[in-house]
Amino acid sequence: MQKKELVYEGKAKKVFRTGNPDYYWVEYKDDATAFNGLKKGTIANKGELNNRISAYFFRMLAENGIDSHFVEEKSDREMVVKALQIIPVEVVVRNIAAGSLAKRLGLEEGTILPHTVVEYYYKSDELGDPMINDDHIRALSLATPEQMARIREIALKVNDVLRSHLAERELDLIDFKLEFGLHKGELLLGDEISPDTCRFWDKNTREKLDKDRFRRDLGNVEEAYREVYRRLTGR
Ligand code: UDP
Repeated sequence: MQKKELVYEGKAKKVFRTGNPDYYWVEYKDDATAFNGLKKGTIANKGELNNRISAYFFRMLAENGIDSHFVEEKSDREMVVKALQIIPVEVVVRNIAAGSLAKRLGLEEGTILPHTVVEYYYKSDELGDPMINDDHIRALSLATPEQMARIREIALKVNDVLRSHLAERELDLIDFKLEFGLHKGELLLGDEISPDTCRFWDKNTREKLDKDRFRRDLGNVEEAYREVYRRLTGR
């Protein structure tokens, strides 16, 4: 498979054609943004670390019966994925209150939620990704109720699998964001699973090992991403 012309450049990734319309070639960048693009910067080696971490999680999820768009790694910062028609809904799963949830509901960050909370956001830069519910998703024809039921089921399973896998590595999975899409009619997990899209806290010290270090200027951002990679792979 070959890397052909650029089709799309996002905040953290570039997507290229491959010559086969069923596959895309994704390159992970070191660029980082936060607060709807208001804060911009770079995190050294983030592209490589997020590519490796995402590939690791997608492989691990596949072993647990959860299919994704991931096909194979092509280099340190590149992977080939199945072409998806992206469903424009960001699915956030939360185990512990943090970030926007803590703020919106007046909960102290770190409050354990008595049961898992699933939220949906409409992927729209112009609107600033507003939170939506199943009725909004139906009214905007973003996905069918059947697709949403399946998405919720997969998201909760991803949470169970990731949470126990990370717990064995002394990491708490606070929350994370997933995206889904259709490939030849099949619903698949897409995008990435990395410290850019998840919150990971050290189980013992509660140290943040994710993009909050960039969002909140906590320092040692690259080191945190590398520590997640090390705990997962031993490398
Ligand atoms: N998240 C993401 N992309 C977004 C918004 C959120 O990957 O555009 C992730 C974020 O990293 C966190 C979870 O979704 O793991 C919940 O984020 P939250 O709603 O608390 O928003 P934030 O504090 O990031 O603004």
